[in-house]
Amino acid sequence: MRMAKRIDELPPYLFVGISKKIAEKQAKGEDVINLAVGDPDIPTPRHIIERLCQAAQDPANHRYPESEGLPDFRRAIAEWYEKRFEVTLDPDQEVLPLIGAKEGIGHIALCFIDPGDIALVPDPAYPVFSIGTMFAGGSSYYMPLTEENDFLPDLDRIPQDIARKAKMLWLNYPNNPTAAVAELDFFDRVVAFAQKHDLAVCHDGPYTEVAFDGYRPPSFMQTPGAKDVGVEFHSLSKSYNMTGWRVGMVVGNARAIDALRRVKSNLDSGIPQAIQHAAIEALRGPQDCIEDHNTLYQRRRDLLLKTLSQMGLKAKPPRAGLYIWARIPAGYTSLDFATTLLEEAGVVVIPGTGYGKYGEGYIRISLTVPDDRLEEAVARLSRWHASKGDKGS
Ligand SMILES: *Cc1c(COP(=O)(O)O)cnc(C)c1O
Repeated sequence: MRMAKRIDELPPYLFVGISKKIAEKQAKGEDVINLAVGDPDIPTPRHIIERLCQAAQDPANHRYPESEGLPDFRRAIAEWYEKRFEVTLDPDQEVLPLIGAKEGIGHIALCFIDPGDIALVPDPAYPVFSIGTMFAGGSSYYMPLTEENDFLPDLDRIPQDIARKAKMLWLNYPNNPTAAVAELDFFDRVVAFAQKHDLAVCHDGPYTEVAFDGYRPPSFMQTPGAKDVGVEFHSLSKSYNMTGWRVGMVVGNARAIDALRRVKSNLDSGIPQAIQHAAIEALRGPQDCIEDHNTLYQRRRDLLLKTLSQMGLKAKPPRAGLYIWARIPAGYTSLDFATTLLEEAGVVVIPGTGYGKYGEGYIRISLTVPDDRLEEAVARLSRWHASKGDKGS
């Protein structure tokens, strides 16, 4: 068997070491608390599941779905964007349901990238941006996200020849993993930059509904001109605790949406219809679950931040998203520090370098574990810190 080069080019799994240690500890009967997963621990709201069960009984939903999704689902998405962001979308031309945002994010490179082309990709970032690019035969030019620049890419520092040659620009706010948010003035600069260099902007926004202290993150689509230059990926995964159902969407530029629809119609046969009906219910039904979940995450955020600060780990209180991005003490690499926390405190976090080299010096801690487990994790971290004396502060 001779495998394709792209298989060799897939980055090695960074956490093999950590995964092995987790397995070893668990085999010894030790309890490990996983603060690495980005998957809501709260179940999908009841009314959504009820709709799913009901739709599953209907034989009309037992057949192949259309790959462009149910017209009513596309309308529900457009209505939701109107209600939430005051963004008007044509449900037939500017909306496309996805089998989870990840699926569309991975496939859209096939619409823009030919072998040798360049995509501008943040570092650190959700890995699918660069891997989708690589699968299409292109390469990524990495834009560092640094704390000094509030984890926004500095567009002025992208070399002219790269900006001219690049075909895509990837962004993600509220950001995973840095927990940063972007405001409309930044998106305005993005639109101008994309117009100047003829770039397709792909904004990934699955965390706009997970926000704290009354903050409401904007959509890239609210920016004048956004629809001329790009699209926005969104998902029901984080908003409605629906990661297991695999349903998301992409909205925006009609040509980009049409291209992705054509790619997808040759690869998949759409989202199971019962799940589309559940998604319609999520978008049109009562929205109080969002507020309830945010209250819960906010309490967990504050609990963790307090302990982290006692441990001498600096982290800005996130205004949105499911993560805390914390600066680690001097004298460790991210991987060393994450490994130490696992070995000595039985707590798993993700080393920042899992998301790119500019993630060095940070760890990502997730807010998606049940309260009692989080409290136990916080207690372990405090004990671990106390046992270290001054080291690490
Ligand atoms: C969770 C996540 C997604 C994936 O969402 P799905 O709809 O579950 O595929 C996409 N982008 C980022 C940055 C995420 O964190």
